[in-house]
Amino acid sequence: MAVQVQTHASLSAAQQALGQGGTYLAGGTIVMRGVNAGAVQGLIVRATDPALRSITATGDSVRIGAGATMTDILASRDLDFLHPVARAIGGPQVRAMATVGGNLFAPHPYGDFAVALIALGARALLVQGSARPVEDLMRDRTRPPLIAAIEVPRPRDARAFGWLKVSRIKPKGVSVLSIALHLPRDGGRLRDVRVAFGAMGPNPLRSAGAERVLEGQSLDAAVIARAAQSACEGLDPPTDALASSWYRREVAGVHLGRLLERMA
Ligand SMILES: Cc1cc2nc3c(=O)[nH]c(=O)nc-3n(C[C@H](O)[C@H](O)[C@H](O)COP(=O)(O)OP(=O)(O)OC[C@H]3O[C@@H](n4cnc5c(N)ncnc54)[C@H](O)[C@@H]3O)c2cc1C
Repeated sequence: MAVQVQTHASLSAAQQALGQGGTYLAGGTIVMRGVNAGAVQGLIVRATDPALRSITATGDSVRIGAGATMTDILASRDLDFLHPVARAIGGPQVRAMATVGGNLFAPHPYGDFAVALIALGARALLVQGSARPVEDLMRDRTRPPLIAAIEVPRPRDARAFGWLKVSRIKPKGVSVLSIALHLPRDGGRLRDVRVAFGAMGPNPLRSAGAERVLEGQSLDAAVIARAAQSACEGLDPPTDALASSWYRREVAGVHLGRLLERMA
């Protein structure tokens, strides 16, 4: 089947075009692979609205256009807390094309940026309808709604957000697993803890076990050890060419413990 590409000036026009089916194209680092392999066919829709790449700070949060690339993130001072995450995605060519919106729907083991967004409690602003927590969108990625922007709350202070990516090839390898933590403190105790994992399930997700252990505690050695032990509770990590499910289960707690020690 031939491929037909439509370019629209606005996201709402793109949304309308997608009403009849088709694939939305952002940076194309995943979609174009599909086109080349013959897996993506038929209608491809893209949008050129400049708002898609805008990054605007408002009060305690930053609005990131869904079409902002990892290179755009790295150029934004308002998003310095996300620089280590953007820098860990692919090489320079990939970062120049890979968008924030596309990262939400990049299949396992991709989705490193989405992991950070989940930990920070970010919301996706949809082209049609209201906003949805990124975490909810990740539960079912089969029919993604078109996303205009992401609203990311800034971490309260630099110590509150932590990020770690485990890969076999450095610096450009994909994730054996990735971890993002948001650990706000209130009088020395952790409050509203969020622990997110990448490549530890079919989609980026939270670790309920580690969060339960950390919530309300001060970050000492005993708490870190217990959080590490509970990290994989209820999780069923996949086996792929990078690592087996068993290996991911074995090392996830170890890496979570190391990141927690760094943030203590
Ligand atoms: C060599 C290489 C290395 C890579 N390394 C990494 C890595 O280290 N970490 C990582 O996380 N990823 C990695 N990736 C995967 C990919 O580059 C990124 O995940 C990227 O952010 C995807 O964005 P894109 O704009 O290119 O998506 P596209 O290919 O354009 O789209 C991907 C999917 O998202 C959907 N989509 C895009 N934008 C929107 C939107 N606004 N609303 C709704 N749906 C949308 C598309 O329809 C499609 O289903 C790598 C890819 C390559 C080729």
